[in-house]
Amino acid sequence: MHEFSIAEALATQVIKHAPEGARVREVEIRVGVMRGLEPEAMAMSWEAVTADSPLEGSILRMDIQPWAVSCSACGRTWTSNVPFNVCACGNESPSPAGGDELDLISMTIEEDEPSSAGKDDQ
Ligand SMILES: [Zn+2]
Repeated sequence: MHEFSIAEALATQVIKHAPEGARVREVEIRVGVMRGLEPEAMAMSWEAVTADSPLEGSILRMDIQPWAVSCSACGRTWTSNVPFNVCACGNESPSPAGGDELDLISMTIEEDEPSSAGKDDQ
C-alpha cells in the first residue's frame, strides 16, 4: 500500500505551507490516474498520518486526472481512463503523456476562533 507513504509526504508538505498554528480543514490534491491511488486507502492513510498533527480531522480531496495519451504517428493527443488504447489513425501504441501527476492544489484553513476572553483589557 503506497498510499501511506504518499499521504505522509503530502502531510509534510501541507504542514510546511500552512501558517503556523492554523488548523487545516481540507486539502485538495490533483492526482493522475496512473498513480493508482485508491481513494479509500488514501483517506485512511491520511487519517492515520495526520492524527496528532495540525492536520488532524482534515479532509483529503482527490481530483483524479485521466491519462493524457499522445500518438506519435499522427500527433493526436487525448485523455482516457485506459492507458494504452488504439489511436483513431490505427496506431496501436500511442504513448501516455501524463497521468502521473501529484500536485497539492489547495488547502482550506480554519482561522482560530476569536476567543471570548481575547483581550485582557481592563
Ligand atoms: Zn494516431
